[in-house]
Amino acid sequence: MLEIGAFEVTTIKIVKCESIKEKLTEMIVPVRCFTCGGLIADKWDDFHKRTEDGDNPDKVLEDLGVKRWCCRRMLISHIDLIDEFLPFT
Ligand SMILES: [Zn+2]
Repeated sequence: MLEIGAFEVTTIKIVKCESIKEKLTEMIVPVRCFTCGGLIADKWDDFHKRTEDGDNPDKVLEDLGVKRWCCRRMLISHIDLIDEFLPFT
């Protein structure tokens, strides 16, 4: 009985860690542009998917309505490092 209870607690911990990893992966992009404060986090998913599929980043940013170059550099220069850091947390 006791061993089964301990196993269940361990299972719950693993599930929580996986959900935290998913949230951190989604939240690693800055929410707002450092220079002008424009909202950019909501555009990251579309930008990342389309550029991974081979679309031109300039055209994708135009389609998303990101006009200012300060906001454009936030998305273009972003590198997802969360997978590198996460094992050490
Ligand atoms: Zn900006």
